[in-house]
Amino acid sequence: MQTVENALAKLNRSKFRSSFKLNQKDIEYIREKGMDTIRKHAEDFVRRNLSAAIIANDGKQTPYRGHPVFKAQHATATCCRGCLNKWYKVPLGTELTEVQQQKIVGLIMAWISEQMNDVV
Ligand SMILES: [Zn+2]
Repeated sequence: MQTVENALAKLNRSKFRSSFKLNQKDIEYIREKGMDTIRKHAEDFVRRNLSAAIIANDGKQTPYRGHPVFKAQHATATCCRGCLNKWYKVPLGTELTEVQQQKIVGLIMAWISEQMNDVV
């Protein structure tokens, strides 16, 4: 994986990826829960929905609504193993390591922080 800054810059140049924005409801939810809790949610989603070697519904496991982290995943191309492979060359067919999972969570949280800073 590239640096978080490079990844965010590249994502910003994608019309599709940069179309995702946090709305007022997302922002209120994040403020209410706090960033530490949101990070725990992100860790949970990444472990549950992305970490297995084989994912039967890959490409469909991340909803478009329901949680700001889902939106962040679409914005950062960490929504499925197909996108992780295409954008970050994360190999398919292998379980994600703890380090890979932390990098993905780091990118998700960086995107969320950037969005939160934009609104103030
Ligand atoms: Zn995807």
